[in-house]
Amino acid sequence: MEKDIGADSEYVTGLIEDDRRFVWHPFTQMRGWGEDEPLIITSGKGAVLQDIHGREYIDGVASIWTNVHGHCREEIDRAVREQLSKVSHTTLLGLANVPSIELARKLAAITPTGLSRVFYSDNGSTAVEVAVKMAFQYWRQRPDPKPGKTAFVSFTNAYHGDTIGAVSLGRIEVFHEIFDPLLFQTYRAYYPYCYRCRYDKSYPSCGLHCLCSIEEILERWHEKIAAIVIEPMVQGAGGMIVAPVDFLKRVRELATQYDVILIADEVATGFGRTGKMFACEHAGVSPDLMALGKGLTGGYLPVAATLSCDKVYDAFLGDYSEKKTFFHGHTYTGNPLGCAAALASVELFERDNVLEAVERKAASLAAKLEAFRNISHVGDVRQLGLMVGIELVRDEGTRQPYDWDERIGAKTVKEARGRGVILRPLGNVIVLMPPFCIDEEQLAQLIEITRESIRAATA
Ligand SMILES: *Cc1c(COP(=O)(O)O)cnc(C)c1O
Repeated sequence: MEKDIGADSEYVTGLIEDDRRFVWHPFTQMRGWGEDEPLIITSGKGAVLQDIHGREYIDGVASIWTNVHGHCREEIDRAVREQLSKVSHTTLLGLANVPSIELARKLAAITPTGLSRVFYSDNGSTAVEVAVKMAFQYWRQRPDPKPGKTAFVSFTNAYHGDTIGAVSLGRIEVFHEIFDPLLFQTYRAYYPYCYRCRYDKSYPSCGLHCLCSIEEILERWHEKIAAIVIEPMVQGAGGMIVAPVDFLKRVRELATQYDVILIADEVATGFGRTGKMFACEHAGVSPDLMALGKGLTGGYLPVAATLSCDKVYDAFLGDYSEKKTFFHGHTYTGNPLGCAAALASVELFERDNVLEAVERKAASLAAKLEAFRNISHVGDVRQLGLMVGIELVRDEGTRQPYDWDERIGAKTVKEARGRGVILRPLGNVIVLMPPFCIDEEQLAQLIEITRESIRAATA
């Protein structure tokens, strides 16, 4: 019989104590963790999560930006269960498996033109690491090698994951600074952050003046540069910073002009999040390499993928003795359960016209967010599809930010939790990223509670 944990208070108390005692939570100051009772999630259905006491919450950030069609989605559950009854894990080292083939075929079909090969790993950081190593190795062994091309261009405010290579590419001061001695150097280009424009201009009259930063770097150093790594259209962890669509278009053109690989990190933006299946589609561009994660399995299981074009892939072909092999792989690469979940999730997009629903809900969300601009301490509201950042500021006139240690984002999230909504901030930016299955009523509730919570936290 299933244990009714809600009724067993001793059991619950034990779990709460042991979470404090044994679990080291990510991105979390554990000293503060003991103050509030940890919110222990036990189940979920659609856009709603339930905690150990039976309380319900709207999952306002799609379980850290992963969930797509809702929790306990029958079609995905069934796909995983069916695979579970066959085999849970084998390996792609020397063997193949059915779901990983079917998923690769599907990904090649739905991703931007030219991306034809799928290399699996198990999280967004590794998907980026794989792209970085592929780009680096490509220049050494392609038919006309350019071994001097070893460096990378990445952007201000970028986030590509937490492994050392991914951290080298990223730049969020508070997360990354301490690791500087371990990191490889990159050329840091300016990513458009229109609300806080470095050049004190405004779009579109600026004519995308900020492109001068990456243009200068490429003009001067292109012979040393292997690849540009970009979060297309929206920088996620950097604060949900939405770039003008022309920016990505121009970056693609510059990459081609200067013979540099373009790596698109679509870990956050992929799978419909921005209103298109992939954010690159907004600008009509194809990257040479693309990293996928988060929403790939519908938010079910840790599968990630790096897609490659033929040009890069072909440079790795050769006699065994030439050592052109891509010597890289992860133990759970191409995990059949995860690939089965991903395949079911991707199929739902087609069957249920999910992108159309995203567009409709994004429009409804945009209309509701209009009112936020009048709330005091809301500086900027940024949105693309169902990806939203609300930047809170001390002073709207001067755009003066709250100090980091005021934890205004965390305070807002705490207010929201008491009202039945789960959020997770990025510093002073409140993120809204609901699962796509969220209904109108829940969306209205999410918005209303977010508004009340901002008011309460900034009062
Ligand atoms: C989350 C994220 C990553 C890292 O993914 P993990 O699965 O957490 O390793 C990389 N790039 C972007 C853009 C992300 O949002």
